[in-house]
Amino acid sequence: MYPEHHIIKNGHIDKCQICNSNKLNLILDLGQQRLCDTLLTKEMLDQQETKYPLRMVWCEECSLAQIDYCVDGNLVYHPDYPYRPGITKELVEYQNCMSKSLISKYNLKQGNFVVVLGSNDGTLLTGFKEYGIKVLGVEPTNIEKIANQNGIDCATAPNIQSAIKAISSKEPKCLSIIGSLYTAGRVLNLN
Ligand SMILES: [Zn+2]
Repeated sequence: MYPEHHIIKNGHIDKCQICNSNKLNLILDLGQQRLCDTLLTKEMLDQQETKYPLRMVWCEECSLAQIDYCVDGNLVYHPDYPYRPGITKELVEYQNCMSKSLISKYNLKQGNFVVVLGSNDGTLLTGFKEYGIKVLGVEPTNIEKIANQNGIDCATAPNIQSAIKAISSKEPKCLSIIGSLYTAGRVLNLN
């Protein structure tokens, strides 16, 4: 049974997202902030931007550091979300190291199947594909087009149900690794 307190509603969060304790202590208050990775068009420059509280808190019970306000995921991951790890040299190197490490640790070979949820432009999957491993990216934003242009099979999936459908439609049926890039922090209801 999925714990009810793991289903985080949009807005202020007053209990720990993991253990449900209300013993949350403020660590850092960065005030009201605009959404990052939401670039303004020329037409939007004169309009007022929505701001949200950005506060980091720490749970006394389980020690998880977390933020205490949740913005609607559809606003954060809008279709034109521009985040692309592939344009940052250090991120490309880091994700290549990660794929090599996972290939070695789990002894992955040709024929294995790796899925990444929230795959962005497919940078992480590139490292697996180079070794002949079958890959699939699942991405809620239009960034998936860049992955597909770069030869990384990537499906658009705005929610977890469509992600499952996309994964189960692929061969082979047996997953070797399924990974997630900062998805848990933004997918509020996995049911
Ligand atoms: Zn806690």
